[in-house]
Amino acid sequence: MHNVGFFRKEKVILDTKCRECGMEFSETERMLRHMIKAHTKKKPSCNC
Ligand SMILES: [Zn+2]
Repeated sequence: MHNVGFFRKEKVILDTKCRECGMEFSETERMLRHMIKAHTKKKPSCNC
């Protein structure tokens, strides 16, 4: 029980805060979805 350093990599990508607008979400997945939906630049809107 002396190799505690192994647990250092515990903090993965668990951000629930949007990096773009700073909005916080209850879940990481929601944040990711928000980023995709709100900040992903899609093609210029055209109704074709
Ligand atoms: Zn955002």
